[in-house]
Amino acid sequence: MEIIFLGTGVAIPQKGRVQSGVLVRLEEKPLLVDCGSGVLSRFPDAGISHTEVDTVLLSHLHLDHVADLVPLLKANWLRGKTNMRIYGPDGTEDWLSKMLGAYEYIQDEVDVDVIELTPGKEFTPEGFDCEITCASAAHSVPTLAYRVTAEDGEFVYSGDTEPCRNIMDLAVEADLLIHECSFPPGTKVTNHTTPSTLAEMLEDYNKEIGSICLTHFYPEMKGHEREAIHRLKDYVEGEVILAEDLMRLEL
Ligand SMILES: [Zn+2]
Ligand SMILES: [Zn+2]
Repeated sequence: MEIIFLGTGVAIPQKGRVQSGVLVRLEEKPLLVDCGSGVLSRFPDAGISHTEVDTVLLSHLHLDHVADLVPLLKANWLRGKTNMRIYGPDGTEDWLSKMLGAYEYIQDEVDVDVIELTPGKEFTPEGFDCEITCASAAHSVPTLAYRVTAEDGEFVYSGDTEPCRNIMDLAVEADLLIHECSFPPGTKVTNHTTPSTLAEMLEDYNKEIGSICLTHFYPEMKGHEREAIHRLKDYVEGEVILAEDLMRLEL
């Protein structure tokens, strides 16, 4: 399994980081997790055709996680690919129908299947050889964290969240936890994570989690990278990785 970080940023623009998006290659077929602004333009940067994507998991409906989804549908349609299956939290269907309702010329051309998930749901997307489980994250809107289990490994993607037990429980014995880390250590913040709040939570999960890859960085995180690694490294079995746009990890 190959994990390609297409976007590791947030709603604030910054050099070198577009908004959230992770592409997972399972048996060659890609699964896209979130699709914020800038993610579509990362496909050519990553040397991958956007038309390969017909399945998307959405953590939540904040713009920095979904802004490029309709542009992806349009780009695929213009290249002759019209089917798409989108998994997301409560409200995904209503959101997408409003978005497509504003662009009837796209709506009439694409064939989109939306599957709304409830926390705890287990499923295998059609055409994939993996199992996916979701759990509720701690964010300002309904947000799902996902665990993807395939033959060659398993990882958890937190979405936007404060550190929470639901996600840690989901990540126990996973090879990799991709966790948001919006702000530097010591920042007082709700709905998001800092290395300090994540470390506090990890104290209760003494090395039960493989490696951690931090992503979803606000510009304020710049310059605090080493501090973040230092703060977290003793709590994981493996390593603490800082995601970069176009970084690839192999499981
Ligand atoms: Zn959010
Ligand atoms: Zn976000």
